[in-house]
Amino acid sequence: MTLTIDKVKELKEKPNPKQLGFGKYFTDHMFMMDYEREKGWFNPRIKPYEPLSLDPATMVFHYSQSVFEGLKAYRTEDDRVLLFRPEKNFERLNESNRRLSIPLVDNELILQYLKKLIEIEKEWIPKEEGTSLYIRPFIIPTDTNLRVAPANTYKLMIILSPVGSYYPEGIHPVSIYVEHEYTRAVKGGTGTAKTAGNYSAGYVAQEKAAQNGFAQVLWLDGMEKKYIEEVGSMNVFFRIDDEVVTPKLNGSILPGITRMSIIELLKSWGVPVKERLVSMEEIIEAYKNNRLKEAFGTGTAAVISPIGELNWHNEQYIINNKKTGELSKKLYETITSIQTGSMKDTFNWTEVVK
Ligand SMILES: *Cc1c(COP(=O)(O)O)cnc(C)c1O
Repeated sequence: MTLTIDKVKELKEKPNPKQLGFGKYFTDHMFMMDYEREKGWFNPRIKPYEPLSLDPATMVFHYSQSVFEGLKAYRTEDDRVLLFRPEKNFERLNESNRRLSIPLVDNELILQYLKKLIEIEKEWIPKEEGTSLYIRPFIIPTDTNLRVAPANTYKLMIILSPVGSYYPEGIHPVSIYVEHEYTRAVKGGTGTAKTAGNYSAGYVAQEKAAQNGFAQVLWLDGMEKKYIEEVGSMNVFFRIDDEVVTPKLNGSILPGITRMSIIELLKSWGVPVKERLVSMEEIIEAYKNNRLKEAFGTGTAAVISPIGELNWHNEQYIINNKKTGELSKKLYETITSIQTGSMKDTFNWTEVVK
């Protein structure tokens, strides 16, 4: 399959790198590819970034059969461009596809196309500390048909957005509301897939938490509301004494690439880390015995998001005096340094884009 490239006539003005925010600005070009049952995936192309025109009956508007990914490109001090474990994102895209009955993609080929797109958009990667180019691959069903069944036609697109630092004022802990009414996902559901509907289903809890002054919710398992699953759209870790625990991938947790990297990093440092069931009661017990030292969320956007407070059944639990813990800080610094090329990547996690 040959990639066709259609460049814009006039480049957009670049936004102020100090006011990027998240997902507000988009680059000049995008990637697009189509799928039809008889043809498979075809017509890979880089084209001007522009609105789509879709019939109101297009399936994407109705039953949420869509998946996405999120990763970043980083500019190094010496002006190279690095991707962080991108092959993991495209492998996961296919896992999501499997769950949503979307035809699988040639994940290695898509990564090559992405690299070409980034090469063309290199000037859009901001230089300021903490900034990056956010990459959003996604797939939508495009049949114009209201029947409730997997579509026969799809589009895969990749759009790019220069984003600001997650911590313009430095890494800081947030307050978290432990949600015991709503559920994010249950075993057998779609929690392990990055699919659109999972996110809007969490908004009502997120809004409730925000109204009460909390940055995010901590999700418990949907069956017993007993075991910890995730925090917002991040995976979650706790340091109890000198051991780190994180909920095991039990069929309703999204397998984060940051999560995987943190586990590997901790192991390489000789820090004991366990993936297992973690109950809320256990965490409170550890807290009361002064053994809960740190808690943090992990994901591509923030890398590490320290938790300074948990609120559970109207009780307030302040962790590490609302300060960023030592281990959280070290993990944050190590991962961001590898991502931006300022530390030697002994794990071979980064990939250079020409
Ligand atoms: C994307 C995501 C994560 C984090 O995954 P990363 O690969 O580390 O960015 C965690 N939980 C949910 C629900 C997610 O959607």
